[in-house]
Amino acid sequence: MIFLSSTLAEPQHFSILEKVLFVVLALISALLFWRRFGPILNNILKSKKDVDFHLFPIGRRVWDFFWEVLCQAKVIRERPLPGLAHAFVFWGFCAFALVTLNHAAVGLGIGFLNPTSVAGRFYFYFAAAFAVACAAGIIGLFIRRFLVRPRWLGKDLSYGSGMVALLILILMVTYLASFFVADADPSARALWWIHTLALLIFLPLIPHTKHLHLVLSPATVFLSRGGFSQIPPLVGDEDFGLVAGTDLTQLVSLQAYSCVECGHCTEHCPANNTGKILNPKEIVLGVRSYLNDLGPSSQELLLGKYNSQEAVFQCTTCGACEFQCPVGIEHLPILVGLRRGAVNTGAWDDNHGAKLFLALERGSNALGMSAMERDKFVQKQQFPIFDGTQEYCLWLGCMGGYDPKGREIIADFARVMNYLGTSYGVMRKEKCTGDPVRRLGNDLLFQQLAEANLEALAQNKVKKIVSICPHCVRTIQEDWKEFGTPPEIEHHSEFLARFADKLPNQKGAGNTPAEKIVYHDPCYLGRYRNVYEEPRAVVSLAGDVIEAPRSYERSFCCGAGGGLVFLGEETGERVSHVRAQELAATGATTVGTACPFCNTMFRDALASSGEAAPRLMDIAQLTARGLPQDGSKLNGSITA
Ligand code: SF4
Ligand code: SF4
Repeated sequence: MIFLSSTLAEPQHFSILEKVLFVVLALISALLFWRRFGPILNNILKSKKDVDFHLFPIGRRVWDFFWEVLCQAKVIRERPLPGLAHAFVFWGFCAFALVTLNHAAVGLGIGFLNPTSVAGRFYFYFAAAFAVACAAGIIGLFIRRFLVRPRWLGKDLSYGSGMVALLILILMVTYLASFFVADADPSARALWWIHTLALLIFLPLIPHTKHLHLVLSPATVFLSRGGFSQIPPLVGDEDFGLVAGTDLTQLVSLQAYSCVECGHCTEHCPANNTGKILNPKEIVLGVRSYLNDLGPSSQELLLGKYNSQEAVFQCTTCGACEFQCPVGIEHLPILVGLRRGAVNTGAWDDNHGAKLFLALERGSNALGMSAMERDKFVQKQQFPIFDGTQEYCLWLGCMGGYDPKGREIIADFARVMNYLGTSYGVMRKEKCTGDPVRRLGNDLLFQQLAEANLEALAQNKVKKIVSICPHCVRTIQEDWKEFGTPPEIEHHSEFLARFADKLPNQKGAGNTPAEKIVYHDPCYLGRYRNVYEEPRAVVSLAGDVIEAPRSYERSFCCGAGGGLVFLGEETGERVSHVRAQELAATGATTVGTACPFCNTMFRDALASSGEAAPRLMDIAQLTARGLPQDGSKLNGSITA
């Protein structure tokens, strides 16, 4: 009641000496802020322009800014408790913008918000509510950082963060305390000065600490490329990717300086979680250190002292880091950019990588087999050849065309298409989409493969493609756009889900309990394509879907992406084994997959996990096993 009957105390008369002191201190504070922030801004602005950057359409940017920055939706969604604590601090800052301006104006005798007016009372009470929430939030975050200390935050205690937390607490407490004193009371003047000094110390600390994100991250979110894990195009013959400081673009530099060092990217990184040296947070901070030490005009290599080549080539491009980052940092363009730099300058020397490149140059498939082998398989399966009259081009991909298990999946999917009466054909001259070489940084080879495929598809007048591989889907739909207009494409989970009501429901057939199937979300289908429910709808026709502890957006990679399935032995634990154990531990009798790469990775991993290991089946196989054994089709013709 005392609180509600009070108004915010404001000292009324400041002496000339006090005013001069305040102005001098404010100027020193602003100068100290600029001394650090100026060079940072300079490094960002002096970085290379992002030629693929377009401000318009602006609607998506405004929405991201509103949702992720103003509403703090992403931080709250991913970590409800610390996220809410962070949101309270952020919203407190927003509510305090006007309070702070008025506070400074009072010191100069030109306060513009009268605490006794109706509007003034309302606003100061409104800000007081946020001050309470902000103080609670900052105490919570302090406890988490300094007492709970999740290992993702790093071993070193950040004293700068502790200092900032203390200053924020002082700002809130002094503001709230001002409701309990009278204007003329000397303590009102003391509170005003303590509040002012906290503000003036806080300002120069911002660019010196991770709290720089307060200034930069709203811009980072607003200016982000937008598409998930979007790899920017190389521009001209002189662009080899991220080789030296001169290759760092403004977006990369802005993002490097925006990192809040929360470690959420590292927490979810499959490479880091299995004992590899890759640490996505350190990759970003490595770029920042480079900029601080050498600037964006340096010719010094980015890989070496500041970031490790070995680490960069341990990335599976699963996108977990980028998905988790609360400030809109896009890791994949940086990681793939660094790989490009190493590959295009000949600095990457890896036997498996060289073998893969050679296989794709000579035989146009990543498995290094003769194209004749694919032809034989197509003939054996009696797949129709696409002649422009069929609705779908069934894309085999390297796995579906050459890998024994991938072939089983494609054959079963073709059986389902036959059952449904969908017309399809396979292309004679299909080459690898270029996914592994695109992610490994060999753009020349990728371009050759993409252009050859686009030409073949155009010649065959293909309008729609369906593929069993999320990597093929992603590469055709997004990456090929650099070189032409790819046909419409969908993943077989999307295709099958559309026909779910026409496919056999096998659950509990023969009065047996429904099979328990744990579905593994492939990174390139889930995080990359946002397809989660369709494969589950298909799996649910075959049994009861159960969830792994890490599923949907938080799914843990199988270890194959980014071309890694074709590279050598991993250091540390195998990513596929860690994931396979997690899937087996759910007690499921079957692991359901929707990607031939996941399938091949789990094949060995499950086999080595003991006799009680669950079966491994693709969603196409789960569907096909329920089809009539006599090969009869669904009555009537079906169009998509
Ligand atoms: S994309 Fe995946 S593997 Fe690569 S750094 Fe990010 S989280 Fe780690
Ligand atoms: S890159 Fe993003 S997720 Fe990783 S530590 Fe920095 S702010 Fe956090």
